[in-house]
Amino acid sequence: MKPYVFVNVAASLDGKISDETRKQLRISCEEDLKIVDELRASADAVMVGIGTVLADDPRITVKSKVLREKRISEGKEENPVRVVVDSRCRVPLTAKVLNGEARTIIAVSEQADKSRVEKVAERAEVIVSGKKRVELRELLTTLDDMGIHRIMVEGGGTLISSLLAEGLVDEMRIYYAPILIGGRLSPTVCDGKSFPTPIKGRIKLERLGEGFVVTVRLI
Ligand code: NAP
Repeated sequence: MKPYVFVNVAASLDGKISDETRKQLRISCEEDLKIVDELRASADAVMVGIGTVLADDPRITVKSKVLREKRISEGKEENPVRVVVDSRCRVPLTAKVLNGEARTIIAVSEQADKSRVEKVAERAEVIVSGKKRVELRELLTTLDDMGIHRIMVEGGGTLISSLLAEGLVDEMRIYYAPILIGGRLSPTVCDGKSFPTPIKGRIKLERLGEGFVVTVRLI
């Protein structure tokens, strides 16, 4: 079985999720940040690619104390599990995802350097999947077997693109801010190779704050 996988990202009107520096950009409005925190709190795990960890060094925890307490009252951990997709185990030992604040899984491939994996395994759980790149379907099945049934993917565009290409995404939620970022090399919602045929979904549109949200159910 595969967990329910939903993607959440914030983009500019031209589909960019950062600029050419690839540093974290504040794209969401306050209203969106609140919903993103609620979605995080509703998930068993939050997944990101190593590109996002290297660029943004995110904590990926639930910000609201009320939401953390609600999780505890439901018998859950304070924060969802953090999952980083990192074939070569490049996660820096100083990265916030290794700060012990929440249960963390680093998914690596067989090509990851063994001594690095050993060091990371002192700070997080390590799952080996795939020869060169992390085998995403196998990883999701392993996570499901571990009791992780609802996964929120928070980017970046390369990981999202692979999950979509492999038919592993159930739903996408994109907040579009009323800005244009531009830049041919700026990361987008969906980077990686183009799909052999366009992937279709059913959409719902809502105004939110100064922007709008598109929720896409993949079909
Ligand atoms: P990413 O999608 O976070 O991570 C991609 C990396 O994951 C790959 O380069 C690859 O590196 C690893 N990976 C391992 N197995 C994979 C597989 N099967 N398929 C795909 N990737 C796999 O990185 P990114 O595309 O560079 O995105 C980072 C950018 O997105 C940053 O600029 C960040 O600020 C931005 N971002 C924006 C938002 C937003 O909501 N606005 C959210 C998140 C990120 P290895 O081969 O070395 O493992």
